[in-house]
This record gives sequence, C-alpha cells and structure tokens, in this order.
Amino acid sequence: MCGCAPKRDKKLELMFWSKTFIPTLRHIPQEAESISHQLMLRAGLVRMLISGVYMYLPLGLKVLSNIERIIREEMNKCGAVEVLLSALQPLELWQKSGRDEMMGEVMIRFTDRKGRKLCLGPTHEEVVTFLVKGHISSYRQLPVVLYQIQTKFRDEIRPRFGLVRACEFIMKDAYSFDKDENGLEKNYQKMFCAYKRIFKRCGLNFYIIEADPGVMGGDVSHEFMVPAKAGEDAILRCPKCNYIKIFKEETNLLSCPKCTEGLEKINTLEIGHIFKLKTKYSLSLGAYFLDRDGKQKPIVMGCYGIGVSRLISAIIEQNYDAEGIVWPKEISPFKVIIIPLNTREKLIMQTAKDIYEHLSKSSVEVILDDRDEQAGVKFKDADLLGICLQIVIGKELLNRNNIELRWRKDKKILKIKKSQAISYIKRIIDE
Ligand SMILES: [Zn+2]
Repeated sequence: MCGCAPKRDKKLELMFWSKTFIPTLRHIPQEAESISHQLMLRAGLVRMLISGVYMYLPLGLKVLSNIERIIREEMNKCGAVEVLLSALQPLELWQKSGRDEMMGEVMIRFTDRKGRKLCLGPTHEEVVTFLVKGHISSYRQLPVVLYQIQTKFRDEIRPRFGLVRACEFIMKDAYSFDKDENGLEKNYQKMFCAYKRIFKRCGLNFYIIEADPGVMGGDVSHEFMVPAKAGEDAILRCPKCNYIKIFKEETNLLSCPKCTEGLEKINTLEIGHIFKLKTKYSLSLGAYFLDRDGKQKPIVMGCYGIGVSRLISAIIEQNYDAEGIVWPKEISPFKVIIIPLNTREKLIMQTAKDIYEHLSKSSVEVILDDRDEQAGVKFKDADLLGICLQIVIGKELLNRNNIELRWRKDKKILKIKKSQAISYIKRIIDE
C-alpha cells in the first residue's frame, strides 16, 4: 500500500468544521447591497474576486449542486438529454443569426492568435442550432430536446446584488427541436410543468407571467418571477383578483383592468424564462429537415432558461430571518449540524462523533462543528448557516442521557433520549 493511502477514519473527518473551509463573518460586508448578498458572504458561501465575478466556497458549492440535482432530475423526467456545449464560440454564428450587433457591448469578444474571431457565450441558441443542423435530416429524428448547465458570460455595465447580476454566471439552458408547432407546444408544456416543479422544490413562491420575448425572438414566452427586494424587475398585481402584468417604466396603469381595484407594485427577480422560438434560428442558420411529405422544412424550436446561480440569491431572499439563512430542506448544504458544546470534554466529543458516524452511514448529510469555540459562537454560526436541524450535545444533557434537537425554521426545541436519536432524526429528515 502506498504512503498516501487514507487512514480508516479519513473520509469521516472531511465534514468536520475544522477541516473544511467556512469563513463566516460577524459584520455585514460593506459591498453587500441586498439581504441575500449579505447572507451569502456572511455564511461563507461565496467570495467576490472582482466586481461581478464570484467564487463558490464549499458550502456555496453544495447549495449549487443541490439546485443542479433538482434541475437534472426534472429535466431528465421530461425527456431532455444533457450535453455540455462550449463556452468559446465563433463570432461567425452570431453574425449569421443577426444577433452579433444586437448583443452590443454585453458580449465579450476577442481575436485569438490565429486571427479567429471568438466570443464567450452569453447564451447558446446559435451553437446548439449549428450542432443539431449537422445531424438531423429527417422528421424521423425529431423531436430532440437537449439541455446543459453551464457558465455564461456578460460584460455587465453594473453588476449588482452578488449573484443576481454577475459577469460570470451559471445557467441551465434547454432547447427543443420539433417538426411542427404541435410538437413544440407539447415540449413547451412539459417544460412549463417541469419549471413549476423545480421552483417548488427550491422552496420558492413565484409568479408566472406571459412576457415579451425581447432579444430571443419568437412570439410566445413565459417568465418565472420571484418576489424579492433585490429584484431588478417588477410586476403589477391586483390584490383582489390576482391579475398580474409586468411593470414597465412607461406603464401608467394604476387600477386593475378586470375589477378596477388599485394595483400594487412588487419587485421581482427573474429566475426562469421559456420561449417558443419557432423557426427564427433554424431559418437564419439553415437547420432544415425532410418531412414525411418529402418537403424540406425548417426545424421548429423552443428554448428554456433557468438562472442557476441566481436561484441561490432568490432562495435566500425568500428564506431567512434575523439570525441568518433558513434553507429549504432539499437545498440545505447539510441536513444536520452537530454542535458539541465543549469539545474538550471526552464524553461530549465521543457522543458527537458516534452520532456523526451513524448519520453518515445512513446517508444523512451532516457536519460536526468540532471547533474549540464558545457555545454562543457556535449557535450564532449554526443559525447563520441555516442548516435545517441542529443537534446540541452538552454535559447536563448527557447526564440525563439526553441530546437536544433544534429546528432552524420554527426554532422548536426537543430533548430526546440519546438511544432514540438516530432513528428519530432519520425519520424526520426522510419525511
Ligand atoms: Zn383585479
């Protein structure tokens, strides 16, 4: 066996607080403009490298992976297949689609040493149409639905609110290819339902609004909006009949067109947008197929985006209290945090490690705060991090063979016999 082979305990210790990297902050960072931005920095999820560019630390990466897992499960369920397209794209495709000029300064363009004109992809309609065009020639090969989760780039004039408006961000983008509008309608409906499931599982309240397709082209689109103070968009909503419309600067509509009640303005954050592109890209990029009747026709397309990194901000904007983040269960970076009150007491640490080991073995994601810190510091950090369930282990509790469970969300506290703890915790985590 070679010298670097892990010791038996090695894997177990990886989720000990002292061995990972969670730089929490007591103070509110000056640069943070919104509550989600503040909490993301304070809970040690992300750090800014330069304006608009963020790095994910271990907790932030876990949250990101949890969101991506939900998205993958729901995309796969509706028959979409995952690919990973390139971030580097030839400018030529953008010239062909006519969007090179339309993107303006937002697209990052450059020339490489061979003189090739390139850009860093702000989106992938051109590339994916180019890809599919080379391999689809008959109606028999349709429909095809492809999706990816990838980093996109935008030269933002004013990056804001942390991950809300960033120059480098992660998106899920899906593209459907059909032989006719009937097929497109079916795929559009499937995506529409998948989006509802995804955002529900992310613990979000959201609005769905028929919207202007804008720079994407096509004629029908739906936006998924989350009410949030850090939102850059806004909607007008009727409190009486729930009529909703997107707020635009030029809007001077003050009462509901359906029931004349006064409309309220709500700031929102766009988290998803789906479009019926129809034949805009297949016509400009030449993606045709031979139909059953022997005629050549343009492929009918739809595209479906989710701001994956932005979802972290949206989820925090809707799930926090005075102490910190309150993660929805599926998103929580760990399901359980174990807090031994005095790490120098042998029995306390032994109990903490036992519980840690049992939960790990039952596939419950758990972190053990093994730092030699005051209990007050540990409680503050645990609340800030927002992990669903806290297990407190202290001397007086152990004297009665008890441990204490604290729910982050409703602050419920329960003392429970040590011997019953594991099966009880497993049951409530699996609920
Ligand atoms: Zn109304």
